[in-house]
Amino acid sequence: MAIESQPALRPTILVVEDEESLATLLHYNLEREGYAVGVSSDGEEALMLIDEKQPDLVILDWMLPSVSGIEVCRRLRQSTQTRNLPIIMLTARGEETDRIRGLDMGADDYVVKPFSMIELCARVRAVLRRIRPGLSEDKVRHGDLMIDRVAHRVKRGADDIRLGPTEFRLLDHFMQHPGRVFSREQLLDAVWGSDVYVETRTVDVHIGRLRRALNRDGQEDPIRTVRSAGYSLEV
Ligand code: CA
Repeated sequence: MAIESQPALRPTILVVEDEESLATLLHYNLEREGYAVGVSSDGEEALMLIDEKQPDLVILDWMLPSVSGIEVCRRLRQSTQTRNLPIIMLTARGEETDRIRGLDMGADDYVVKPFSMIELCARVRAVLRRIRPGLSEDKVRHGDLMIDRVAHRVKRGADDIRLGPTEFRLLDHFMQHPGRVFSREQLLDAVWGSDVYVETRTVDVHIGRLRRALNRDGQEDPIRTVRSAGYSLEV
């Protein structure tokens, strides 16, 4: 099952677990925690889903029918696209050697079955906070910019900045990944959603609006245009 389209601000998690009752339980509890959740019972399918639309975190069972969790983890780490994708491994085996192997393969954390949902959710929050501080915080700061996701407010220095909803989501996306260059297609996927048909030049229009709002007093432009590549937030 693919991750459904959701409001841009909810972190997305892909659960890869072939044990149906556990997958359902994880799905239910993570959704209740406010995440957008997709589930796959198969390693090969999971790799395809991740290739189509990268989640913010993967919960990966060690023992899967075709491709093992550890192999999925290894392949994700080999690809430059997914090298830094946060992964929490699940295993029924609590042996120290497995734990070390899992972390060697690049998992960010490791949870031994049986575990409580409270514990797992705490690990998820911890990994997201560590790897993408911008994802789990209500307020994110970068340079003189501050975005408050709860109050839907943006400030530059002491000044309030008024943004439309699309410009707000664009800025939020940039502030989650300062310095990273996004193509127009990637911004469309992240901000508008991949199931919406919008022309790529629409991105330029909204970037223009975002810039005018942010730089209205002639400040330095925090958005960088990268020729033939896209846009990024200056670091
Ligand atoms: Ca399993």
